[in-house]
Amino acid sequence: MRRSHFEAFGPICPRCRAQDDSFSKLTIAEVFKGNRSLVLEGVLHCSDASCQQEFPVIDGIPIIVPDVRLLLSTQTQQITTRSDLHHATQGMLGDASGDASEYNTRRQHLSIYGWDAYAEFDHAYEEPDTQPGALARCLETGLELLDGFEGPVLDLGCAVGRSTFELGARTGEPVLGIDLSFAMLQLAQQVLQTGRASFPGVRQAWSTKRWILQRLSMTRQTWTSGSAMRWRYRYRPGA
Ligand SMILES: [Zn+2]
Repeated sequence: MRRSHFEAFGPICPRCRAQDDSFSKLTIAEVFKGNRSLVLEGVLHCSDASCQQEFPVIDGIPIIVPDVRLLLSTQTQQITTRSDLHHATQGMLGDASGDASEYNTRRQHLSIYGWDAYAEFDHAYEEPDTQPGALARCLETGLELLDGFEGPVLDLGCAVGRSTFELGARTGEPVLGIDLSFAMLQLAQQVLQTGRASFPGVRQAWSTKRWILQRLSMTRQTWTSGSAMRWRYRYRPGA
């Protein structure tokens, strides 16, 4: 989470908004990991004294939803699953946990979305009957139909963030990617921080972990875990 984007987008408490339609600003209460420009792990607080709801920031992703406990309880494994294990070890865990397990479902989703979003940046990738990058091509077609626009951009349901990168590069505006899947946002955040995308190759039956250099503009993007239908913010240009 970029501090500058947090100030600019000005997120408000979705719990207060849902309860009495009030606008209660969120503040950065604690930073456990980060620096002057980034918050990688910490806590946001609702500024309303009668609410004081806490919203965690994990792996640079603020979780801003009305029911934080529900999201944390349903996505505990997504949030805590290690990504540093060797692909062979991940495969053994996947085999042992079964096709329908949450662990394998997460791997399959990341494989499908990661492949379409980032595999085209892998020069070694060759598969004659399929071509990654469908989402980027759809986005390009859609943007060509617009007369132009200005101001910040919300990327609702941004998944692994390819569209967020493209929107930032093409509009020159700050872009906020929103999705409820923490695992997908982790991949987006990984690309932002490292310039590389690493994800399981379950769908294509890859036996190796993929490290893909990418060439995307990465100065205008930020992500949050939240519901597209419940998100509220107060944008302040230049904040
Ligand atoms: Zn609140």
